[in-house]
Amino acid sequence: MSWTIIATWRMALEGVSKGAELLKENGSASEAIEKAIRCVEDNPRYGSVGYGGLPNYVGEVELDAAYMNGDTLGIGAVAGLKDYANPVSVAKKLSEDRFNIFLVGAGADAYAHMNGFERKNMLTEAARDTWKARLKEVNDKNLSPYDGHDTVGMVVLDSASTMVAATSTSGLFMKKPGRIGDSALSGSGLYVDSEIGGATATGLGEDIMKGCLSYEVVRLMSEGLAPQEAADQAVQAFSEKLRRKKGVAGAISLVCANKKGEWGVGTNVEFSFVVATDQDAPQVYLANLENGKTVYRVVDPSEIEDK
Ligand code: ASP
Repeated sequence: MSWTIIATWRMALEGVSKGAELLKENGSASEAIEKAIRCVEDNPRYGSVGYGGLPNYVGEVELDAAYMNGDTLGIGAVAGLKDYANPVSVAKKLSEDRFNIFLVGAGADAYAHMNGFERKNMLTEAARDTWKARLKEVNDKNLSPYDGHDTVGMVVLDSASTMVAATSTSGLFMKKPGRIGDSALSGSGLYVDSEIGGATATGLGEDIMKGCLSYEVVRLMSEGLAPQEAADQAVQAFSEKLRRKKGVAGAISLVCANKKGEWGVGTNVEFSFVVATDQDAPQVYLANLENGKTVYRVVDPSEIEDK
């Protein structure tokens, strides 16, 4: 039976490889995605997810994550979670609940504590140094602070035809305390319906949420578009609309897969992503926008920045 796992950014490679091992043995999509995203969250090398994630303006790491089950449409999310090792697992637990499925700040922390999730100081020395240096630069040179952000987002189809999607991020580096991006928001950062397919986004959350872009990709797939067409159309049409209406479009990238395991990518910037299927071993791809369309190629992971 076919299975597929697709994820944003090169940083997902090790996690996707672990998830693929599970899927190969007929493991469930939910098990595979949690393992894969936790692997990224636990790695301090990645400055935009989990441990080692870059802090907000006042030096605190605030984490956003979401999890969606495409069989039940159950969704759970946390935003502004502090000092818990694996936000994706907290979101996954919330997705099983009927009420109170999206918790923020102190309420999210209390839920994680009550449910026994691992506490951890998520601010590494390296992230603190980067924050201090950036703060000085921003103050000295009057720069826009909002550089350096990414999200690990994944969509998984397992051999039992269940689909899930999940995200995890520390959001915009230097964000205002309390700022929430698209990654925790149903329909914006992620959406999945096992009868159709799923999508997940990365980029400037403030723009992605204006177009509910993950939902839009799933909607386009439900109208019969192939994943590649759906992802590209959603990103390019909405980027164009933003430019027309607001004069500027932020970075937007999306990956998606349908219920047959076919996948697609749409982006308006250079963007790396990772795919593994029952046919293909995990591989890193680099996507770019060329003549109004997303094009991509396989790359050696060492060729691109480790993020
Ligand atoms: N979308 C994330 C946010 O706005 C950041 C990113 O994926 O680059 O929080």
